[in-house]
Amino acid sequence: MTEPTREPSIFSRIIAREIPATIVYETETLLAFEDIAPQAPVHVLVVPKTERYANVVELAAGNPALLAEMVTAASHIAAERADGEFRLIFNTGASAGQTVFHVHAHVLAGSLEEGTLAH
Ligand code: 5GP
Repeated sequence: MTEPTREPSIFSRIIAREIPATIVYETETLLAFEDIAPQAPVHVLVVPKTERYANVVELAAGNPALLAEMVTAASHIAAERADGEFRLIFNTGASAGQTVFHVHAHVLAGSLEEGTLAH
């Protein structure tokens, strides 16, 4: 039996350079790029190159070291593009605003307004 094939996520297509994005940071395991609909002066998505984990709960259970790498990446991005301080958001589940089920962190930085959330 063959596994059912799944379409690559929009983020996997960005990682494969099939869809353009403004890439700001890359490691062997992660890619970070500007959100197409920014909600803050700095709004970057940090995305593991694997789409094995749909959300941060699955990632924390399956590969906590990779989750820690995402936090470190967020800190580098905020230091380079703002004053080093940042908000890190993982929308988890459709009713919480998650629209792409390939785990990703929203890094928001740069003079955030009170109450600014990614969605
Ligand atoms: P979620 O709602 O799942 O937490 O976040 C998905 C994010 O991906 C949204 O903020 C949305 O603006 C962003 N996004 C969706 N499609 C694209 C795209 O093709 N390119 C980029 N750069 N961002 C995207």
